[in-house]
Amino acid sequence: MRDLSELAASLRLPSEPVRTPMFIDGKDYAGATGEWVSRKSPGHGVPVTATSRASTGDLDTAVAAARRAFDDGRWSRLSGEQRAAVLLKTASLIRENAETLAYLETLESGKPIGQSRGEVTAAAGIWEYAAGLARVVHGDSHDTLGNDMFGLVVRQPVGVVGIITPWNFPFFILSERLPFALAAGCTVVVKPAELTSTTTLKLAALLTEAGLPDGVVNVVTGLGPVIGQALAEHMDVDMISFTGSTPVGRSVLTAAGCNMKKVGLELGGKNPQMVFADADLDDAADAIAFGISFNAGQCCVSGSRLVVHRSVEEELVERVKAVLEKVKVGDPLDASNHVGAIVEARQFDKIRGYIDAGRRDGAQLVCGGTSSNEGDKLFIQPTVFRNVQPGSALAQEEIFGPILAVTPFDTFEQAIQLANGVPFGLAASIWTRDLQGAIKSFREVQAGRIWVNCTITGGPEMPIGGVKQSGIGRETGRYGVEEYTELKSVHIQLGNRPRWIA
Ligand code: NDP
Repeated sequence: MRDLSELAASLRLPSEPVRTPMFIDGKDYAGATGEWVSRKSPGHGVPVTATSRASTGDLDTAVAAARRAFDDGRWSRLSGEQRAAVLLKTASLIRENAETLAYLETLESGKPIGQSRGEVTAAAGIWEYAAGLARVVHGDSHDTLGNDMFGLVVRQPVGVVGIITPWNFPFFILSERLPFALAAGCTVVVKPAELTSTTTLKLAALLTEAGLPDGVVNVVTGLGPVIGQALAEHMDVDMISFTGSTPVGRSVLTAAGCNMKKVGLELGGKNPQMVFADADLDDAADAIAFGISFNAGQCCVSGSRLVVHRSVEEELVERVKAVLEKVKVGDPLDASNHVGAIVEARQFDKIRGYIDAGRRDGAQLVCGGTSSNEGDKLFIQPTVFRNVQPGSALAQEEIFGPILAVTPFDTFEQAIQLANGVPFGLAASIWTRDLQGAIKSFREVQAGRIWVNCTITGGPEMPIGGVKQSGIGRETGRYGVEEYTELKSVHIQLGNRPRWIA
């Protein structure tokens, strides 16, 4: 990766695509098909990277490597201290290579370079946090089973884990899962989104440099419906952790049933920003504008619905509009831009479709609504619609773009009904100065993550995940490492066992 550091420091586009092979059993791996797929930067419209398109045979090779590495205990039988040392070293290598990782992330994903830098540095912090957990995983004992019996509950690594990640936060989302699986003692096969595989491949090489034994982390690149599906169906994989859309999550859940894999799913969201009449409207307006513009709205926890008390709706919407008018959308390598590109043409068309649907359904366009795909550079201006009907597509479906749907409420009960009236339950933000009102609200809102007078913030200590059709299980926090373990109950007979037949 050091050969890329000069290019990354100059923030110039590469003269030819950066080619990165797969990573299996501690080594670069060419793949059986020899097929390379090039990726155009969505912010610049030119090819910037190339990765292999794997066959299912390549996936089998990766799973076999992970299986061997798990079964012979080269990682799972190390002490927590030894595992923690590797994770800490990885964190420090991430920090050393942060500029290059951020540059590659921006080229493939289209997110602003400043944001990529922030994500890579924050990811290093997650690796550091997870390193500590490698020494914290522990079981339980029961001395209440009578004089002749002693009970132990042992936590053991699940085994071989398949991790499937999306394109919106390729490095960060991986870092919310992989170090926890490793802290638990698992071995892993990662399938990143084909659009954004490069930083995952670079991380695999850093792990080896940090001293991770061969075969413990393997990366297979390729198409989701082929490689992702085969990973979810694989009989030699013990757990699958999937992050992405709800429909694909559903199919992963079905596929995982073949051998009763343990499953973790973090899926879509349609997250409300609930603003009560007594809220600090300036603060809320700034956060609401951020919550819909961050990562160009391509964020599972985007605050894509504004559920606001009717008495302050007009004023708040005006303030949100005023903030959005200052937001700069454009070249993601220009650090002065706040919002970068939309990840690909399919996603661009999908978001455009929702803007058209909003207009057709009679919602009132407050600001934005414009877009540009000139020269294959894909940009959409943050957009706000008022008078959005609660049952409409704009209010119900995950758009994954910078579109805010505003719906007013009159009573607390209506606010809760609107907040919960979608199939998802990933996150919610509550804006009020009334502590009791805030507590009452977060008790009733169906979501895995709640922010009170803030949005899209936190640290690796806090677990993430959703309820309803937003997923199953939790990642990060101490719960994050426990997800990658199984419990084993051990009953120890003390003294003589009472005979069945005397
Ligand atoms: P997907 O759910 O299709 O992709 C997520 C990951 O799953 C990618 O690695 C993808 O691979 C892989 N995948 C695709 N099909 C399968 C399959 N059958 N079995 C196993 N893995 C598979 O999301 P999209 O990229 O298509 O985005 C579509 C929509 O999904 C977005 O508009 C957004 O609404 C939502 N989404 C939500 C995310 C979240 O964080 N909650 C993240 C990303 C998307 P590959 O991309 O290589 O085909």
